[in-house]
Amino acid sequence: MAVEGPGTGIASGDSGWARPGPAALTVRAVGGVPTAEPAAPSPALVRIQGIVKRYSSGDGSLGAAGSTAVYALRGVDLQIGRGEFVAIVGPSGSGKSTLMNIIGCLDVADRGRYVLAGVDVSQLGDDALARVRNRLVGFVFQQWNLLARTAAVDNVALPLAYRGDADRRRKALAALGAVGLGERATHRPNQLSGGEQQRVAIARALVTSPAILLADEPTGSLDSVTGAGIMRLFSQLHASGRTVIVVTHDSHVADLTQRQIHLLDGQIVLDAPTDAIRSGAVVASTPAGAWQPAMPHASGV
Ligand code: ADP
Ligand code: MG
Repeated sequence: MAVEGPGTGIASGDSGWARPGPAALTVRAVGGVPTAEPAAPSPALVRIQGIVKRYSSGDGSLGAAGSTAVYALRGVDLQIGRGEFVAIVGPSGSGKSTLMNIIGCLDVADRGRYVLAGVDVSQLGDDALARVRNRLVGFVFQQWNLLARTAAVDNVALPLAYRGDADRRRKALAALGAVGLGERATHRPNQLSGGEQQRVAIARALVTSPAILLADEPTGSLDSVTGAGIMRLFSQLHASGRTVIVVTHDSHVADLTQRQIHLLDGQIVLDAPTDAIRSGAVVASTPAGAWQPAMPHASGV
């Protein structure tokens, strides 16, 4: 059970959370169709250990000791179970997008281990990484990036067209139905509102039946009412069994998820159920300010 629950939370120490047992098990039954619990512990969908990610500084140089590097992630440990609804939260520059890109196999860490759905992706090359990504991950971004002159249904079918899936139109219509846009299938993006366009983008992410739905600031370009509607949609997708990870700097958005992972300066400072955070039962720890990579890098990136 412990593997499926929220991470241990560096902030919680010995005090523990207010509620007994892993909260994810309790909250799953709230507000929708409960997800069937596995009889025995199953490995977490996302298992991240000691992830470090650095970027070279503006002038592109990287000293032998890494002194001019920006460390976007400084030793992140994280597990996310199937069926969780998680927010990755933090101020601008805290490493949220870097972490999301690694979870989504768009990028790889410089150090550490990442196992996604039982596949160790830490050592994969670009092609193998792309195959894992296409099979397991659906992305939603702040800017939905739809093809402007292409009907919603064809935008949604695009990931399947790349795979040569002959059944793509039916699947695309089903995905549009799942996001409440069944009636708008033949509309072009410029005939749709911002919220509707984001729904099309979510349908496009869902159409391949990914193991994880990853959204980076999905409400960032929407007004608060429309953004709340998009979060309700993620909530419904979670209730129907999806694993959903939303990256946000907005605490209102994070409060609509069930578990929050707070980043600051590339480190996790809080990992706890949203209920426990809202009730004040847990607070963020201070990041280890003097963090240094354990070993200097021998060569530049
Ligand atoms: P967030 O999404 O929380 O705003 P990011 O993950 O985008 O944070 O960035 C974390 C840190 O890494 C920031 O200091 C940012 O400037 C730096 N960074 C991100 N991407 C790059 C890049 N491609 N090159 C250099 N530095 C980067
Ligand atoms: Mg970002």
